[in-house]
Amino acid sequence: MTHANALTTHTLGFPRIGERRVLKWALESHWRGDSPKETLLDIGRTVRRQVLDDHAAAHITRPPVGDFSFYDHVADTALLFGQIPSRFQSTANTLENLFSLGRGRQIDGRNVAPLAMKKWLNSNYHYLVPELEADQPVVLDAARYLDLVREALTITPDAKPVLLGPLSFLWFSRGLDEPGRLAKAEALSLAYQQLLTELKALGVSWVQIDEPILTLDLPLAWLKAFEPTYHRLKVPGIKLLLTTYFGDLNGNIALAAGLPVDGLHIDATTTSDLIAVADRLPDYKVLSVGIIDGRSIWRADLGAILTRLAPVHARLQDRLWLAPSCSLLHVPLDATLETRLPPFLRKNLSYARQKLNELNLLARGLTEGWDAIALELNQAASARTELDNRLGRRDPQLRRKTDIIATQSPDRAEPFTQRAAAQQARFNLPLLPTTTIGSFPQTHEIRAARKAFKNNEITADTYETHMKAEIAQVIKAQEAIGLDALVHGEAERNDMVEYFGEQLDGFAFTQEGWVQSYGSRCVKPPIIWGDIRRPRPMTVTWSSYAQSLTPLPVKGMLTGPVTILFWSFVRDDLSREDVCYQIAEALRAEISDLAAAGIGMIQVDEPAFREGLPLRQKDWPAYLTWAVRAFKHAVSGAPSDVQIHTHMCYSEFNDIIASIAALDADVITIETTRSNMQLLDAFAEFAYPNAIGPGIYDIHAPQIPTEPEIEARVRLALAKVPASRLWINPDCGLKTRNWAEVTPSLTAMVAVARRLRSDLD
Ligand code: GLN
Ligand code: ZN
Repeated sequence: MTHANALTTHTLGFPRIGERRVLKWALESHWRGDSPKETLLDIGRTVRRQVLDDHAAAHITRPPVGDFSFYDHVADTALLFGQIPSRFQSTANTLENLFSLGRGRQIDGRNVAPLAMKKWLNSNYHYLVPELEADQPVVLDAARYLDLVREALTITPDAKPVLLGPLSFLWFSRGLDEPGRLAKAEALSLAYQQLLTELKALGVSWVQIDEPILTLDLPLAWLKAFEPTYHRLKVPGIKLLLTTYFGDLNGNIALAAGLPVDGLHIDATTTSDLIAVADRLPDYKVLSVGIIDGRSIWRADLGAILTRLAPVHARLQDRLWLAPSCSLLHVPLDATLETRLPPFLRKNLSYARQKLNELNLLARGLTEGWDAIALELNQAASARTELDNRLGRRDPQLRRKTDIIATQSPDRAEPFTQRAAAQQARFNLPLLPTTTIGSFPQTHEIRAARKAFKNNEITADTYETHMKAEIAQVIKAQEAIGLDALVHGEAERNDMVEYFGEQLDGFAFTQEGWVQSYGSRCVKPPIIWGDIRRPRPMTVTWSSYAQSLTPLPVKGMLTGPVTILFWSFVRDDLSREDVCYQIAEALRAEISDLAAAGIGMIQVDEPAFREGLPLRQKDWPAYLTWAVRAFKHAVSGAPSDVQIHTHMCYSEFNDIIASIAALDADVITIETTRSNMQLLDAFAEFAYPNAIGPGIYDIHAPQIPTEPEIEARVRLALAKVPASRLWINPDCGLKTRNWAEVTPSLTAMVAVARRLRSDLD
């Protein structure tokens, strides 16, 4: 076949933090005042140039432009259309204002709070939540955006500008209720149209417009808004590719297929019947099939994909476009930088750059025939076989074990009331007991010791001595403050998942597997490639040492199975449910060892519990069933007088409260300050039966809370939770704070608890 038949290939977005996180370092240096804005802008240009070069090297026909951001593309969209809360006193679309939205600013000596952050759908990317105001006019301020486009077009004339769609933008905003947000759709779509007209003038032909909300359960009013909104967006000469991802269109397929746009992108990793979608599409429209999983780090099964695509290609011919399922923002940049991983793993990884090559191979396979890519297909298949044959992922005993976990009762031996009595007899806690969430400030010395140990510069003994000294100091400090349930401080942990992954079989750690989390922050999730086993206890030394120093209870501190699962890149040959049970089984053994060592309180953190929720409500029950089951399997071997705590943050509980209650933790601590304790309403309405520790101050801010502030929050909590089941604690762990903030904050918290305690008695 000839080149005329070449398929269009494209990506919805690309990692923007740059090779070895150059943009991160540049941003942070700029924020510290160590480097001028010009340097930062230069690095941004270099990163964007590299993105275009990467696409060109892999023969991807339409690279994205405008997906880049110096902080967050949702905040950039808000700036593009002037939707900036008035407290910032400026809506100008400048870099400075973008940073203010993300980091807050000072105006006349007062702190102006940044926008809130929220996870982007069910991903681990945090976007800045735009705050809308009813009377704020929509004003297009596109210079920065158009500069990006101009810059890209001089290098790649086929570059495709990317925009977050108006309805998704409004849906993910706050500040106004649903009708209030929707009321902005008309003005907003006119501003989009104006922008498209300007893009047309630059010579752009295709524009990508992201409307991921089409994969959600949308209220009727929002569904109805699509038609008129997209009619208003029409600009002659500009073709729109409407993209959806992370889920299938389900009932929204007719709507999406019928909108006045020129192409539709669907996520083929979550859409089962591609032909059914092709059938719905008017025959002038392009179907972009997101065939390579944009959130997976594993090589694609090219052979299977080609088989799947063949009939779609036969039907659509060059109206078929190929792409990854979603923006590649959600995977790291380049797997060839992973020089330290064992070869069997390394050759099975596919990060963003590798996915570009896979995409190109698929396009060639379809147009030139399988033979043209036979070599690469064979390589892919044999790499995969090597991985699948590793003994470390084929343990039949563990398969049988997870089958049992999936069916047996996960309950603890006795119900909460009996356990509570046994625990009270053991701990004799006062009313309104005080505690913290686990970590204490990670000082420079702690980090230095961990690093030195990791680099073999100090012996295990020296390291242990360092950590024990730290634990002793943390215990002493907590006793001096007067807390009731202590923690060992988590000095030995760099990260709450990595710490466990490093000690469990089945995990691997990358050097360059960084993914943007928010702003300049990146995470490096471990890879779960094999069966998970716990060769030896992971936390018992630290916890028992801490407990040996004090008569007060010290909480053992573990990360829960659901959180370990969701904050890792997970193998794709087993269900998440099964992997989660494997983790639970390992944690169960740890809890048994902790209990045997005399640790009477054990906290199993599950901050990612809600994150695992599928996008559509109909899929929730299945997830919640196994997630609850995994947590319970981990903890249910604990004797009744061992008090199980759990902790969740950045969560809403209303719609999952029954599952939270089903976890049956003896105590749950949650982040509640920013909602001014409103999150407790779900617990009150449900008549949540176990103990709750609502956070009474925000640990993300450096400000030290005053006693009246704390007292007001505790009083709000007391109106919703009976005093007998109320704990008092901060919102979350304290590792990002310093002691000068922590000591007075906790001292104030304890003073309030003591005062209210004697009032209540
Ligand atoms: N125990 C952890 C800590 O205190 C909990 C962190 C979290 O909720 N993300 O740091
Ligand atoms: Zn937390």
